[in-house]
Amino acid sequence: MSDVRAIGIDAGSTTTKAVGVDAEGRARWHLLEETDPRLRLQIERIITIAREVAGSPAPVVATGHGRRLAAADRSVTEITCHCKGVYTQTGHGGTLIDIGGQDSKVIVVGHTGKVANFAMNDKCAAGTGRFLEVAARRLKLDIDAFSDAALHAERDRDISSTCTVFAESEIVSLIAEGLPVGEIIAGLHRSLVRRVGALVRSTGLEKPVMLSGGVAQNAAVRRFLGEELDVEVVVPEHPQLMGAYGAALIALESLSVR
Ligand code: ADP
Repeated sequence: MSDVRAIGIDAGSTTTKAVGVDAEGRARWHLLEETDPRLRLQIERIITIAREVAGSPAPVVATGHGRRLAAADRSVTEITCHCKGVYTQTGHGGTLIDIGGQDSKVIVVGHTGKVANFAMNDKCAAGTGRFLEVAARRLKLDIDAFSDAALHAERDRDISSTCTVFAESEIVSLIAEGLPVGEIIAGLHRSLVRRVGALVRSTGLEKPVMLSGGVAQNAAVRRFLGEELDVEVVVPEHPQLMGAYGAALIALESLSVR
C-alpha cells in the first residue's frame, strides 16, 4: 500500500492530470495524459489506477473542463483548485495566472488563501496555449524550440491579428516578406502576454504574480509576462499539476469531516 490517501483529477481541455496526496497533503503520485474525446471512460480508468496506487477507495475530487463527467465524490471549479494548490505550495496570496490549453484565468488569492476575485477567458484561443501551439505547428517547431526562438530574438515583430486563425495567415505573409522567424515568434509570445495582461488589469494586480497551467513551463511566456506586468513571476513546482493537486487537497479535507 502507498501513502496516497486522497486523489484529485483535473480533466482539462488539452490534458488530464491526476495527483495523489498523503495524509499531510504532500503530493506522492501523479499522472498526466492528453485528454481523450471519450473523457468519461478516460477518467474512470484514471480513478481505477489511482485507487490501485492508494490501495484503498480513496476519496476523489474532480476539477477542470470535464469535471462533471467524472464519477468522482465531488466536483470543484478549477479556480478554487488552482488557488488551493498554489497557495498551499507557495504559502502566500497574490495574483495567480493559470494559462491552459484552451483557456486562461486570473485569480486574486487573498492572504488566507481564499479566492478574492477572478476573471476568465474561455471564449477565444488567443491568450491560451492553443495560440502558441497552432503557430509552432505552422512553423514546424516543437514548443521548446519555439519558446527558445522567442527568447533569443533581438526584437519582436508586432503581430496585429488577435485571432488565432488570422495570426496563422499573418505568420505565413510575414515569412514570405523575409522577416526573421525568431522575431515573428517573439511577437506571437508578446501578443499572448498582452492579452493575459489585459485580463490581469481587469481584476487588479496584487503582488506577487504566480503562474500555473501547462504554459507556465514556457520560459519566454514567463519572461515576457514579467516584462508586460513589470513584476517578477513566481512559478510553483509542477505548475501544470496545480489544479489536480488542489483537488486532491480538497479530497483530503473531506476525510477529516467524515
Ligand atoms: P488544460 O488544463 O486546459 O488542459 P494545461 O494546463 O494542461 O491545459 O496546459 C496545456 C498547454 O500547456 C498546452 O497548450 C501546451 O502546449 C502547453 N505546454 C505544456 N507543456 C509545455 C512546455 N513544456 N512548454 C510550453 N508549453 C507547454
